[in-house]
Amino acid sequence: MADSVFRRQSKEALSDARLRGALENFTGAFIRMRESAQDELSNWQEMRERAHRIKAHTLSRLDSYLQELEGKLQEAGARVIWAESPSEASSAVVDIARRHDCRRAVKSKSMTSEEVGLNQALEAAGVTPVETDLGEYVAQLAQERPSHILAPIIHKTRQDVGRLFADKLRTQYTDQVEEITQIARRKLRRDFFSAQLGISGANFAVAETGTLVVVENEGNARLCTSLPRVHVALMGIEKVLPRFADLGLFLPLLTRAATGQRMSSYVSLITGPRGRDDGPDHLYVILLDNGRSRMLADPLMRQALYCIRCSACINICPVYKRAGGHSYDSVYPGPIGSVISPFLLSGESPDELPFASTLCGACADVCPVRIPLPEQLLHLRRQAAGGRPPGLKRAVSLWSFMQRHRRLQSLLLAAARLAQRLPGVSPLLRRLPLLRDWAAFRALPNLGGGEGRR
Ligand code: SF4
Repeated sequence: MADSVFRRQSKEALSDARLRGALENFTGAFIRMRESAQDELSNWQEMRERAHRIKAHTLSRLDSYLQELEGKLQEAGARVIWAESPSEASSAVVDIARRHDCRRAVKSKSMTSEEVGLNQALEAAGVTPVETDLGEYVAQLAQERPSHILAPIIHKTRQDVGRLFADKLRTQYTDQVEEITQIARRKLRRDFFSAQLGISGANFAVAETGTLVVVENEGNARLCTSLPRVHVALMGIEKVLPRFADLGLFLPLLTRAATGQRMSSYVSLITGPRGRDDGPDHLYVILLDNGRSRMLADPLMRQALYCIRCSACINICPVYKRAGGHSYDSVYPGPIGSVISPFLLSGESPDELPFASTLCGACADVCPVRIPLPEQLLHLRRQAAGGRPPGLKRAVSLWSFMQRHRRLQSLLLAAARLAQRLPGVSPLLRRLPLLRDWAAFRALPNLGGGEGRR
C-alpha cells in the first residue's frame, strides 16, 4: 500500500485545508437534508427493505428482465445495442454519430459515459461533446473529472468558477452564483439548438413498458433528450426495474436519499423516440455490461448492483470527506466507488480502493437499498490479499509460538514494558516495517499493566 495512487493523492488532498472545508460544508448540508427528508416518513426503513427485496428479485432474474426491456424498447421504436466493454459502448455512439452526420453532442446525467471515456472517443471522431449539467459543464471547461456523483465540482468555490468562466469563456469575472448560472445558461442554449445528438444516462429503465427514466433538477436532461434529432441513452444493465409501479418506491427513495427532496424538479419518462408532437427522430439505447456480469456472479458483490447512485454513502464517509473524490482515481468515489471500481476499471487504483475505508459502517446505515458495503469491502480486501488478510499467517504462527512458550512471553513483555519507558523507543517502534502502517494512525498500546498476559 505504500505510495499507492490513493495514498499519494489523498495526502495532497489532506494538506488542502480549503478543499477539506468545502467537502465538510457540502457533504454536511447533504446529510442534514437527507436526514430531515427521511424523518418525515415513518416507514423509511420499510421502504429500504422493500427496495432491497425488489432489487434482489430483479438481479436474480436479470437476463429475463433485460430481454423484456429490450422487447418493449423495440416495440416503442428504440434500437437496442448491447455493449460488453467501454470501447464497444464508445464505438457504438461514434457509429451512430457518423451514421446521422452528428457533429455536436449535448450530454446530461451520464456517469456511464464517464465510465467508458465517451468524450475522448467522440472528440477523436470529430464530434464535439458538451456537458450540460452545470457542474459537469464546469468540470469539462476545467478539463477535470467530476469529484462527486451528484455534485461534480464539490471541490470548487464559486470564485474558482468565476475565474474559470472569465478565462475560458471570456466573460466578466463574477462570483455571484445567479450570474454564473446565467452565463452558463446563455452559452448552453446555443449548444442545445445546434446539437444533432443528445446523450443521456438513465436512472431507471422499466422492463414492463420500455420506459427510460431520467431524474434531474436543472431541466437540461429534458432538453438533451428531446431537442436533438438523435438521442442515445447509455446505461448499465443493472438499471432495469420490473414494473412501472416500482417507480412509486424508487423515485422518492432516490431523491430523499440524494438531496433530501420529496421529489426532484424534473422526471422525464421516455418511451420510444418522437411522439405525436415532439422528441428525437431516433432513439438508441446502449445496455452496458463492463464487469457487471462478473459482479452478478458473486452473491455478495451482486448487491453492489442494487445501487441507485444517490451518493448518501459518499457524503457520510469519513475517508471521502477528507480525501475528496479525485483521490479515488475513479469515476465513482466513496464507499460504492471502492466496491464497484475493481470490477469496472482496470489498473492499480481500483484494487487498492477497498482499503480506502475505515469500515465504520456509516455507509451501510444510510444506503437506501441496504447494500452491505463494509462486508463487500472486507471481501475485496481478502481477495486482494490472496484470501486472507495480509500478514495474518505470520501473525498467527507468532502468536501460537508465544502461547507455547509462556516464560519467553513473560520475559519479552517485561523487556517491552521497560523499553517503552525509555525515551525515543516508541518513535523507533512506530517505524518498524511490521508496525508502520498500523501505527500511522493509532497510539501504541501501553504495556505497563501486563493485562494481555493474564
Ligand atoms: S451504495 Fe447506497 S448509498 Fe451509496 S450511492 Fe449507492 S444507493 Fe446510494
